[in-house]
Amino acid sequence: MAKSETPLFPNITQTTPRSPKWLWEAGRLALLGLTLALLIGLVSEPMTTLTLTWGVLVPLLPILIFIAPGVWRNLCPMATLNQIPRRLGLGLQRPLRGDLRSQAYVIAFALFFILAPVRLLQLDYDPFALLLLLLALLALALIGGFVFQGKAGWCGSFCPLGPLERLYGQSPLIKARDRFCEPCIGCQKHCYDYNPEVAQLADLHDKDHGYISDRKFFFAALPGLIHAYFTLPSPPVLTSLALVEQFVISLLVSVGAYHVIETVSRVSTYKLNILYAALGLNLYYFYRLPLMVDDLHTLTGLRLDVAAPYAGNALLILLSLLWVWRAMSKEDRYISALLSRKSVRVGASARLSALKEEYRDQG
Ligand code: SF4
Repeated sequence: MAKSETPLFPNITQTTPRSPKWLWEAGRLALLGLTLALLIGLVSEPMTTLTLTWGVLVPLLPILIFIAPGVWRNLCPMATLNQIPRRLGLGLQRPLRGDLRSQAYVIAFALFFILAPVRLLQLDYDPFALLLLLLALLALALIGGFVFQGKAGWCGSFCPLGPLERLYGQSPLIKARDRFCEPCIGCQKHCYDYNPEVAQLADLHDKDHGYISDRKFFFAALPGLIHAYFTLPSPPVLTSLALVEQFVISLLVSVGAYHVIETVSRVSTYKLNILYAALGLNLYYFYRLPLMVDDLHTLTGLRLDVAAPYAGNALLILLSLLWVWRAMSKEDRYISALLSRKSVRVGASARLSALKEEYRDQG
């Protein structure tokens, strides 16, 4: 392809897979096997498996989504189950429409936000509760794939990890294109899997202001949620009601700070979201890494140096700075594309040019 024809933001149809499909299939089988082993472990070795899940495996997810989101989306056990009906040609395969479609993002982040206090109340200490949660998530993913077409029934809509993947996966340090949607059937608007680099930007320039507000609320509340999760004492120190109240207060403070900064600064909404996302990730590992060192010691007897969490946090700050710079530098190119005649596809049936007039109206 001549240089002048190189797409500004290549979509799924403009990128060539760099690894064979069988490798992804093998990876999916391996992760499904690991998931099954965890489910069995929660029954046979409940406390060890609980520590392994919450102490090591789950904390690895945010950094994986941050560094190589495409790898996770191609291997996620929920996605694998969700795509079985599509691949076998089974189920209703309906389009996601109406209120369910417009509220899908809110449902996804509400699930994510609800899970944080529920972890402190029950899930962090109760292997049986964790077993039920994992079974429920896997079942919902499978049912979503049975009822709705493409990834519209879970991965691109209701999955509680979805908003995180869109936020942190927009400037991947390691890229891997989607290997489920071959071919794309256009099941979603601003599809992350179709064009990961611009899905988030397209969301924030949508003509539906409610659509933008939903996303801003999620970004704004995230640091408050993380801070509350790691600093609030669990029952019986706090009653369940008091714990939920403290969570809500922390979320509101975080959202309030976001709107004050947005109002008094000249930073664009997109750039503020990027800064908030970086803050949230670093806050998470600031609290989590020392706990991970302890959990590793409990599981393996291996005691890492006390400096290991500091080294990990320092490395993450450097990676975050790189990520912030790469993500922020995209906005100007995106707006240029929006205002130019160039066409960038943000979904199988959506081009940026459709948003152009709206953007001009906003000044
Ligand atoms: S719009 Fe296309 S790429 Fe996106 S999830 Fe649906 S089928 Fe896959």
